[in-house]
Amino acid sequence: MPHEHSSCEKKLEILSYLPELTGKTAVHFIGNDKCFTKELAKLASKLIAVVNDSPAEPEKENSIEFITSELNKLDLGVESVDFIYCNSLLTNLDDNEVQDLFRKSIQWLKIGGAVFFKESCRQSETENTGSEKLRDAEVYEAFYSSVTAQCDSDSFYGFDLILSKSIDSCSEKNNDSNEMIWLIEKVKKDNSQNHGFKSFKEFLDNQQYSSRGILLYEKIFGRTFVSTGGIETTKEFVALLDLQKGQKVLDVGGGIGGGAFYMAKTFGVKVTSVDLSSNMTQIGLARAKEVGCGSDEVVFEIADATKREYPAASYDVVYSRDVILHIPDKLSLFKKFFKFLKPGGKVLISDYCCSPDEHSEKFKTYVKQRGYNLLSPAAYGKVLEEAGFVNVRAEDRTQQFADILKVEIARTESIKDEFIAEFNEDGYKYIVDGWKEKLGRVELGDQRWGLFYAEKP
Ligand code: SAH
Repeated sequence: MPHEHSSCEKKLEILSYLPELTGKTAVHFIGNDKCFTKELAKLASKLIAVVNDSPAEPEKENSIEFITSELNKLDLGVESVDFIYCNSLLTNLDDNEVQDLFRKSIQWLKIGGAVFFKESCRQSETENTGSEKLRDAEVYEAFYSSVTAQCDSDSFYGFDLILSKSIDSCSEKNNDSNEMIWLIEKVKKDNSQNHGFKSFKEFLDNQQYSSRGILLYEKIFGRTFVSTGGIETTKEFVALLDLQKGQKVLDVGGGIGGGAFYMAKTFGVKVTSVDLSSNMTQIGLARAKEVGCGSDEVVFEIADATKREYPAASYDVVYSRDVILHIPDKLSLFKKFFKFLKPGGKVLISDYCCSPDEHSEKFKTYVKQRGYNLLSPAAYGKVLEEAGFVNVRAEDRTQQFADILKVEIARTESIKDEFIAEFNEDGYKYIVDGWKEKLGRVELGDQRWGLFYAEKP
């Protein structure tokens, strides 16, 4: 029975996205999704199952507490639960009801608690029919990310994204809808964080990685790439991995997909490209169509690499190109890579680095304005070792970086008219001047570039 097969696969897939629920209190808004109650009850210590109308004969289960209530009258109590699960519920609510549910959920959840929701989203410009309301995925994002609750005079609670993606096991997708899942976390924030944005994700999407910013970068790095050397360095560095057909690769901060497409197409590996920027992911999905890369080859996830969990020993390679400069706590991240990798698994990273010496004021200002967190290549290698990796190679590739910058500048100057026609004079200046400044910082000695290779024993 193909249908049963796929629904079982889907269930396993959904379970794989849930956070650890041992010792936790979970809530299930049952709606018409009865089959998941038992699954959740197995995972959580306590399950509160919310039903609309009282069932004729409520099932008696020790760890399940059934509550009969209409959604808008429900009150679970402040900071009383760890996890809220809804499946195909929000499509049946109007916009106000959805926003209201997010507002209440942030009250009901403990700090660090999470909401998981799975909904069909609108895929194309189709009109809604029937009682289900298919929304664009961006609408859900706008709803949850605008919710805040006051904590004290200078801090507040809000939701941060852990993961959002299309469900893989629904490849028999129809053209009008797309099944998506979200996992969002209640966090405490204050206005001094995230450069004045509500979340780091909003900072990325609105500042350095606006859609226009990404396309400008792509123009100088080369189609599908947003990192040093584009396809050239990708070929050189991927060759160090000895990839074998069928292996699984996690591309951390995969951007618009260039590295993932190259690895999947050339070596037959299956790549998960995880990136926190929605703009990057949207452009990446368009580029996947362009290069003919299906979701059986490259899967895109919008997720925070510092929070997303994968099963232990599930990847052969973790690959990350010019991303980790954005992440302060590198040790915790590398410990996660260590966990996700199979024994013998490999890590390959390129990243912006700095000299170990005192830096110029100009360099400090640049790093601060970008929100980067840089280490010297040697210190970076030490962090990989501290995370448990062996055969760590930490190479200072600053000379190669400078040579590439010069090639990229010359190439861009040679297509000046085309560049200006596609963007405009300002865009061209932003890129070429930016690159010349970058070269200046490198020549001064402050800015470095590193290549890192490591293995899990
Ligand atoms: N690796 C790609 C893109 C590099 S640009 C390439 O080589 O072309 C850096 C990327 O890191 C951006 O797409 C940015 O959104 C992503 N990023 C930054 N912080 C992240 C985080 N915490 N989790 C996931 N991606 C992140």
